[in-house]
Amino acid sequence: MRDGLGAAISPNRWYPPVLYALARVAIQPAIKARYLEAGQFTRTFEAWPTERREEWRQAKLTNLIAYLAKHVPAYHQLPSNGIVDLTDLPVVDKQIIIAAGDSYFSDEAPTLPVIQKHTGGSTGDPWNYPMDRVAWADAYGIQLLRFEEMGVRYGENRVTLGFPTSLGLGHVSFSKRVRLLVERTDTELCSFEIDPVTSLDRAHRAVKKNAALWYGYAGTIAAMAEALLAEGMTLKGPRLIVTMAEPLWPSWKMAIEAAFPGSNVVEEYGANDGGVISHRCPLGNFHLADNQSIVEVLDPTNAPCSQGVDGDIVITNFTAKHLPFLRYRLGDVGALGPEQCDCGRPGRTIARVSGRTGDAVLLADGREFMPVTFFTVFNDIADYVRQWQMVQPSVNHLIIRVSTRPGFDQQHQALIEDTVRSFIGNEIKIDIVTDQPLELTKGGKHKVLIRTF
Ligand SMILES: [Zn+2]
Repeated sequence: MRDGLGAAISPNRWYPPVLYALARVAIQPAIKARYLEAGQFTRTFEAWPTERREEWRQAKLTNLIAYLAKHVPAYHQLPSNGIVDLTDLPVVDKQIIIAAGDSYFSDEAPTLPVIQKHTGGSTGDPWNYPMDRVAWADAYGIQLLRFEEMGVRYGENRVTLGFPTSLGLGHVSFSKRVRLLVERTDTELCSFEIDPVTSLDRAHRAVKKNAALWYGYAGTIAAMAEALLAEGMTLKGPRLIVTMAEPLWPSWKMAIEAAFPGSNVVEEYGANDGGVISHRCPLGNFHLADNQSIVEVLDPTNAPCSQGVDGDIVITNFTAKHLPFLRYRLGDVGALGPEQCDCGRPGRTIARVSGRTGDAVLLADGREFMPVTFFTVFNDIADYVRQWQMVQPSVNHLIIRVSTRPGFDQQHQALIEDTVRSFIGNEIKIDIVTDQPLELTKGGKHKVLIRTF
C-alpha cells in the first residue's frame, strides 16, 4: 500500500496539478482574481536584478499617484504626472479614512471588483471595507508561492486552526465556501477554545486529517502542543505549520517543534487592510514581497526610523484603487530589517513586529515602554515560562501574569522583576503572579499588555 500504485494515486500527488488547472479555467474567472498569476509574477520579479526591481517599483508608484490624483478626491492635489517623493505625502489611518466619508474612494469604484473585508473585530475596533480583488489576488498568490517555496503545493490538504479572520466563518460567501472546499482547506477545527482538553482533542483530530499544512493562530497551535506534551506525547504533524495573527513566542515555537517533531514551523506576519504578507526566514527576518507594497517604519513625527528601531508600520499598496492604501498606518509597531537578508532570499525585510500601536506601559512622568522592551528576559527563561502578560491598572501599579512551566522558581521571578525595574525604575509597584489566567481578546488573541486606564 505504501509504494507503487497506491503512492502514485495518493490524493496529494494527483490533486495539485488538477487544482491548478481547475483554478485557471474555473475558480479564478468565477471570483475575478488571478492569484496564481500573481504568485508567478512575484517569482519572476524576485529573480530580476535589484536595479530592475527598483525601477519597476518606482514606475508602479508613479502610476498609482497619477491614478489617485485623477480619480480619488482626497488626493486631487497630487501631481497628475504622478512624480512625487513618497515621504512628502500625508500618512493616513483607519480613523482618518472612516471620518472622511467617500473622499478616499475612487470615482471608478462601481466598476472595480472588490471583496468585502473585515478587520479589527478581534481588537474591538471593527471595520468593514472593500478591497480590490486584484489586491487580494496579489496577497493570496504571494502566500501560495511562499507555501510552495516551503514545500507545500497549492491543492495539498490544509487544516485551519484557531480563527483566522480572513476565513472567519461567520461571513464566508457562497463562492468562498466553494473555493475552500475545492482547495481542500479544512476549517472544521476553527474555534477560540484553547483549554487543555479541547486542545488535546484538536491535536488528535488535526493529525488524523493527514494534511500537508496547518495554518492558524499561534496560540491555538501552541496550546495543542502544550496539551500533548503534558500527556508525555508527541505526534507526527504536517510538513509545514504556519502560525499567524499573533506573535509566535519562542516558548510556543519550542513546544510546537517538540510536540510535532519533523514539522517546519514558520511565523507569518500579514495585514489584510493594505496588503502585507510576509514569512519569517531561518535568520528571523520577515520577508516582504517588494512587488506588493512599499513598507515604511515611521517615528512619531512621521520621519523614517533607522533599521532595527521600532516605529509605526506604514504601507503603500501598489494595486488597491477602489479604496487605496497610500502611506496607511496599519496600527502595528515594528522595526525594519536588512534590505538584503543574509539568508539569500530576495526582498526587503521586517526584523520584528513588536505589538499594536498604543500598547505601552505608561509611567507617571509620561514615559512609555512597548512590551518588546521586556521580551529578552522572558525569552531567556523560555524553558520555564509558557506565556506572560502585563496588566497595568494605574500609573503606579504593574501586574505581570506568568504562566509557568515546571522548574520556575524565585530566582526566575527575581530576574523578571529586576529586569523590568531596570527599565521602568522603582516608583511603580510590581506584582508577579503565577496563578491568574491570561486574558484573551474577544477575537481569541493573546495580548501582551492590557492597560486599563
Ligand atoms: Zn532572511
